Amino acid sequence: MAGIYIHIPFCRQACHYCNFHFSTSQKSRSDIVKAIVKELELRQSYLPTKTLETIYFGGGTPSVLKSDEISDILTAIGKYFNIESSAEITLEANPEDLTTKYLEQLREVGINRLSIGVQSFIDNDLQFMNRSHNATQAKKSIEAAQNIFEDISIDLIFGGQYSSPANWTYNLKTAILLDPVHISSYSLTIEDGTTFGNWMAKNKLQPIKDEIQKEQFLETIESLSQAGYEHYEISNYAKPGQYARHNTNYWRSKPYLGIGPSAHSFDGHTRQWNVSNNHQYLKSILNGEPFYTIENLTEQDQYNEYILTSLRTMWGCDRNRINSFDPVYQDHFDHNIRQIISDKKALSKHNILYLTQQGKLFADQVAEELFYIN
Ligand code: SF4
Repeated sequence: MAGIYIHIPFCRQACHYCNFHFSTSQKSRSDIVKAIVKELELRQSYLPTKTLETIYFGGGTPSVLKSDEISDILTAIGKYFNIESSAEITLEANPEDLTTKYLEQLREVGINRLSIGVQSFIDNDLQFMNRSHNATQAKKSIEAAQNIFEDISIDLIFGGQYSSPANWTYNLKTAILLDPVHISSYSLTIEDGTTFGNWMAKNKLQPIKDEIQKEQFLETIESLSQAGYEHYEISNYAKPGQYARHNTNYWRSKPYLGIGPSAHSFDGHTRQWNVSNNHQYLKSILNGEPFYTIENLTEQDQYNEYILTSLRTMWGCDRNRINSFDPVYQDHFDHNIRQIISDKKALSKHNILYLTQQGKLFADQVAEELFYIN
């Protein structure tokens, strides 16, 4: 089984925290759609299997596409791959795009899961982030989507220095009342090259307070667990069994093909990533020139990656999988895990290592302690 990721590199406006690849000009939109269709043809043999379990339209903002354009891409995927009848087909969407008519069209062309970029239900937060929707649109879009789709996820951001702990409590309560089957909750990070990053460099924005982020993270786990969501990955919560299959396959090292500018691919042994520039991508696809960079994954890369992704999930890090690596990695793992367990950041049960609640607050640090750096 495998998945396809399609990167739609357009947004209506730039959110102040975002460092994904996108353009706010949509002039090349129909050319990009055609190039995506062409890339699907060019890379139809990339995956070790033709059978697709998941398709994911991400970005950028895939909901800037017309439903016909989404349909063209799905038709091309169907031409070169076998889409399982029960495949999960997700589209990331922004609240302002989700009219009832558009939602119906999405359903008709084959989308069966929506991931809605809500981020906050508070107007001041949304304005500070430079989102193009308001709180009313956020709520209404979820309700409208729920009339047509069962499988809905919403994204929220916590820990922003522009907001307050009370606002985050309100956001959690509002999300729980709206009752989507899946919630992704990310802590704000300030990235170089973003507006927030520039403001920080000029001291126009205060640094994020680590303690506040940790408190809000723990509050999220507690509130969502009480409301019946499983905390199945550091940033992801789902009603029982309603895990995002596409992202879960990333975390479980299944192969995927990434199509479109800046998209990444993984075939089990190599990673490759497409050029993060719409113009260069179009030109290269048109002229048959290389448009991606390839990296061969060493055993060390694969070990470190397994540590990073597995520890973040509720399925944990399997010692039997560690046994498949060279003994040097096994010894390194066994040596370093003792301190982590005695610090109560992780526990081992039936040969599987899980982060404790305390450990989840330091997930990246625990992973770093287990990484093998030669
Ligand atoms: S957060 Fe989403 S909508 Fe905002 S700029 Fe980034 S990709 Fe576009």
